[in-house]
Amino acid sequence: MSSCGKPGHTSRRAFLQTLSAGCAYCAMAPAYAKLLDYKLAASEIAKGTWAVHGANEYFNFDNGGNIVNVAFIEVPDGVVVVDTGPSKRYGEALLALIERTIPGKRVLRVYNTHHHPDHCFGNQVFDRELIAAPQGVIDNLSLEGEGFAENLYRLVGDWMRGTALAIPGIALEASSEEIGGRRFSLYYLSGHTSSDFVVRDDETGVLFTGDLAFMFRTPTTPHADIATWQASISSLDSTDRELIFPGHGPKDVKGESLLQTADYLSWLDGNLRLSVERGLTMNEAMALPIPARFNALSVLRTEYERSVVHLYPQLEDSIWQEVEVTR
Ligand SMILES: [Zn+2]
Repeated sequence: MSSCGKPGHTSRRAFLQTLSAGCAYCAMAPAYAKLLDYKLAASEIAKGTWAVHGANEYFNFDNGGNIVNVAFIEVPDGVVVVDTGPSKRYGEALLALIERTIPGKRVLRVYNTHHHPDHCFGNQVFDRELIAAPQGVIDNLSLEGEGFAENLYRLVGDWMRGTALAIPGIALEASSEEIGGRRFSLYYLSGHTSSDFVVRDDETGVLFTGDLAFMFRTPTTPHADIATWQASISSLDSTDRELIFPGHGPKDVKGESLLQTADYLSWLDGNLRLSVERGLTMNEAMALPIPARFNALSVLRTEYERSVVHLYPQLEDSIWQEVEVTR
């Protein structure tokens, strides 16, 4: 089922699948099966460039893990896809949507912006030799992909049926490449994770930032290095573009997603450092008020609390070590 060859993972996942599919819903199976439809829709954000927006929420059964932005682009000789969504079922729906929107054109390239599961678990419906990412994304997926898949099974259940990890077949290192008669600029950054990949369509100027930019959605930090992330945002801010397509949230014409993400990360980092210096526990830090200027960001309190869990232990280590050295 999976390319990772870890039988323990596979059997546990099979058990979870059986559990979610077999117990709770068996009495209503036919109607239930019909409900598991992502109902994907494409909106044209630039000439021949189609956005597929997920919910600005956290993973839950109702959204089936579809909380992400995916895009596809019509190029002269085919189609280029940026990210593939959270599951095999999503990947299949995406392929059908592409065929409905741009009939008769083949997918020539699929990019993965980073290794988080909402962005690349639709990979398996595409030819592996068309899927491309930097080596760092490939390494991260190889290391953590199976664990992510298990976690998603727990969070969204049967939506994930049949989903298996599919590692990109192409490791990118060039600064640009031509696909089907269109040139794409490729940027190798980090900060949201240890390897974040950004693509620009040089014809339309659309910059696909992955999760280095969030728009009206609280940034997530399970693998974040905030100082590096801020440096990547500065570099994106000075990159020529017409439009930003962030990893989550609406398209961004004016660079607002970069400002929102930088502002929130700056507050988060400062707030957590101050909390550690004051000797607050993690629970006390989690309960602190969040400035009203962030109220427009969805999933605010939940993501803030998750960030405390992600970031507090290492901040405590580094700050208390500094204090000891100073003494
Ligand atoms: Zn992410």
